[in-house]
Amino acid sequence: MIELVEKLHENNNLTDKELKQLIETDDKNTAQILRQRADETRRKYYGNKVFLRGLIEISSFCRNDCLYCGIRCSNKSAERFRLTENKIISCAESGYKRGFRTFVLQGGEDDYYTDERMCRIITQIKEKCPDCAVTLSLGERTPESYRLMKRAGADRYLLRHEAADTELYQKLHPPKMILDKRINCLYNLKVEGYQVGAGFMVGAPFQTVDNIIADLRFLQNLNPHMVGIGPFVPHHATPFSGCAGGTVGLTVRLLGIIRLMLSEVLLPATTALGTISPDGRILGLQTGCNVVMPNISPDDSRDKYELYNNKSTEELSNIIADIERAGYEVSMERGDCIR
Ligand code: SAH
Repeated sequence: MIELVEKLHENNNLTDKELKQLIETDDKNTAQILRQRADETRRKYYGNKVFLRGLIEISSFCRNDCLYCGIRCSNKSAERFRLTENKIISCAESGYKRGFRTFVLQGGEDDYYTDERMCRIITQIKEKCPDCAVTLSLGERTPESYRLMKRAGADRYLLRHEAADTELYQKLHPPKMILDKRINCLYNLKVEGYQVGAGFMVGAPFQTVDNIIADLRFLQNLNPHMVGIGPFVPHHATPFSGCAGGTVGLTVRLLGIIRLMLSEVLLPATTALGTISPDGRILGLQTGCNVVMPNISPDDSRDKYELYNNKSTEELSNIIADIERAGYEVSMERGDCIR
């Protein structure tokens, strides 16, 4: 099994059969070698830096109905909020004063945020926070919309593909959501010049090892600048409330594999990973992750952006302590992908 890690480290690739073996093993020595090689690789490209991104959750209104997600439109018990233009801008400004140089604006698919509004918000953040990067994570929009927001100054876009296998994608989403549309969005974003992030949930209901291999192959083909993966965590008011969540072990293994496949990728240790275990984030960082996205949303809306149960609202100081405890240095730079 250790040879498989070495082979992946050397070739940035394995056969499906080999990948399956590596994904399925919970052997401790293998985990240790994987951690070592993933860590070497991230250090080769990014040194010991962990980039911080200020995450601003702008809206919990969503027209979509993803079966796993706590803010799906069918969840009538969800408390909804949306930040005003000024609130978003002032939130970025105060983050800027604290040193943040990347802002991630994330939200449900909320029609309130027209292209015109988004462009105004992006333009003003760029004006008031010179040299910062603006990352958007607002779901599926038209190619024109992506173009206009790029022209207004947006730099990056996170849109997890969620599942590269059509059948699994359909089990996780309502019939009107189509995998091909989502994938087209990712390619449109690339064409418009965004640094793009894709990804998926680990341990989602119905997900098999073959499905995960399809996700890894999809990522290899897309070759994104960023990959976001985190464990699936059930939410109490969704159809998947009774399902098991993803594990730390498998998530961390996949993070290591992704680091070795896409050596230069920006790879966050996600909030979901930090939520399911107190040492999740540290293990992720030690296994190839080089980004953390602390929540800098206003206090009064934070609890309402409830994607899953017990979503962690960790203090920035604890996050910084974790990064240092894991053996890395906090970086507030823009932290672009080096390729
Ligand atoms: N509307 C945006 C942002 C979605 S929220 C979009 O469509 O991209 C960001 C990510 O949270 C999603 O892509 C999904 O992978 C993840 N997520 C949603 N519900 C989750 C859950 N129950 N457990 C873990 N991750 C979840």
